[in-house]
Amino acid sequence: MNTNTGDPPVTERRSGEHGSAHDRRATDRARAVMLAGGERQLARRETLVSAREQAADRHDADLQQREQALTLRHKHLAARKQGEREARRIKRALERHIIKLRRANAHLVIATLGAQAMMETVQRAKEHMGYMAHHDFLTDLPNRILLMERLALAIAMASRQQSRMAVLFIDLDRFKVINDSLGHAVGDLLLQSVGRRLLSVLRASDTASRQGGDEFVVLLADVANERAVSELADKLCLAIAEPYQLGGETAHIGGTIGISMYPDDGEDAETLIRNADVAMYYGKHSGRNRWYFYRPEMNLRAVERQRTEADLHRALKLGEFELHYQPRVNLSSGAITGAEALLRWSHPELGAVAPARFIPVAEDCGLIVPIGQWVLREACMQISRWKQVGLDPGIVAVNISALEFRTDGFTDALRAILAESGLEPACLELEITEGVLMRDAGASAAILRELKEIGVVLAIDDFGTGYSSLSYLNRFPIDVLKIDQSFVREINTEPGDGIIVGAVIAMGSSLGQRVVAEGVEEAAQLNFLRAHHCDEGQGYLFSRPLPAPGFAALLRQGLDN
Ligand code: C2E
Ligand code: MG
Ligand code: MG
Repeated sequence: MNTNTGDPPVTERRSGEHGSAHDRRATDRARAVMLAGGERQLARRETLVSAREQAADRHDADLQQREQALTLRHKHLAARKQGEREARRIKRALERHIIKLRRANAHLVIATLGAQAMMETVQRAKEHMGYMAHHDFLTDLPNRILLMERLALAIAMASRQQSRMAVLFIDLDRFKVINDSLGHAVGDLLLQSVGRRLLSVLRASDTASRQGGDEFVVLLADVANERAVSELADKLCLAIAEPYQLGGETAHIGGTIGISMYPDDGEDAETLIRNADVAMYYGKHSGRNRWYFYRPEMNLRAVERQRTEADLHRALKLGEFELHYQPRVNLSSGAITGAEALLRWSHPELGAVAPARFIPVAEDCGLIVPIGQWVLREACMQISRWKQVGLDPGIVAVNISALEFRTDGFTDALRAILAESGLEPACLELEITEGVLMRDAGASAAILRELKEIGVVLAIDDFGTGYSSLSYLNRFPIDVLKIDQSFVREINTEPGDGIIVGAVIAMGSSLGQRVVAEGVEEAAQLNFLRAHHCDEGQGYLFSRPLPAPGFAALLRQGLDN
């Protein structure tokens, strides 16, 4: 720091010290005073300077402090601004989030409501599907799946309680005929009615199920004995056989029931159902609208039938069928009036198979329709061929089964065959059993009228074995009554026999129909028939059914008797 005060330097003043001592002293004093003053001044200056310096320092420090404060403030301000900006940004972001959240929440609420509704729909659909999966859509009865579940449960119970239970396999008789002739809608109504009737007979603890088609299976849980089962089966048969009023039509059907018992006929559901089915199948060919308890030997029959069905398919394809002709004879003149065409099947391994064995199978599986077509065509072509070579076979009769008769297009097919063979319709006779005609009299009459228009001859076959009422017979345009051979066989075995044959002959002639006796084997029968003015006869007494060449030979030479 600068300590100069403006006084002359001390070294210069020392040159004047050669005066008096007083002076010197004075001078010294003065000098001392001066010195002291200078020093004081200097000291003062120094103090001043240092004060100034201190002030300056303080100022500087103050300035520095202020500066620092200012920078700090600036920093604060900047930081605050930055903070505020950040806060605003966060706030905006938050707001956006909140909006988003609210939106999401709103969606969530809607979605939750939607999901709930969907869940309910899904639940309902699930329940519905569960129900559908276990019930038959047509009759609303339990289906096979539910039946199997209940059966398994019932078996477990019966096994624990050492009790018995029964499985009834029901197949409707003639359902196919109704379905084909009256249409599927009527068929459906019929199945629904059958379902209701089954339920009306059963206890709440029993199960009636539909297996599909016209098959129903009933489970009787806990039954005392076979008698109790057969009594219930009787009731079921009766309920099924009551006439049905369907869409303005009256329909008659029956039901054949096969029964298997737990534990005797099977210890599991599959076996019980299969054996009940075998018993039903057996029943179908032993007399319908009845019930049958399963017996082990029935299995063989079932297997044989299945094989027959497969073989029939092949027979039709490979031409294993042939027609034989059995002459029909005018009983008063002995002349051949015609023949009945009878189907013959020579099986490659089994040889000749009787129609009684394979025709019911063919009817069951529907093959009788194409087989029947083959028979009709073959017979018509054969008659034409005979005529072409100058032979007159008279009227040739062909058997028509129930299924064929009711099949749509039967009359059209007949027309086509007649046209193809160039045959006079009057040379062809159609034999239809009375059972077929009576089943649905209204529809039968219509078909018969159409056949009559075509010009063919109409016969009732096996007359007397079914149930016919005279009033219907009168209504049907029938030309010929064929008395069943069972009545003819009874002639002359005991006094009073033959009464039915006599009555039928009388009735037929009074209705203007020709009466033919079937199965004439003995001269005594022939005499009786002649005496009662029966028009014609057919039977071994005259000739067995013959292959076409044999019958042609017979036509040429005539019969001996
Ligand atoms: P059906 O129409 O009543 O035919 C008469 C049956 O009696 C024939 O049996 C014939 O051979 C037999 N028969 C003839 N005379 C006598 C006799 O004096 N004594 C005995 N015991 N029997 C005699 P088959 O040929 O075995 O035919 C049996 C049944 O099969 C026929 O009965 C008919 O219902 C059916 N059938 C035969 N051919 C056909 C066909 O082409 N189509 C259809 N749907 N059914 C046919
Ligand atoms: Mg016949
Ligand atoms: Mg007959």
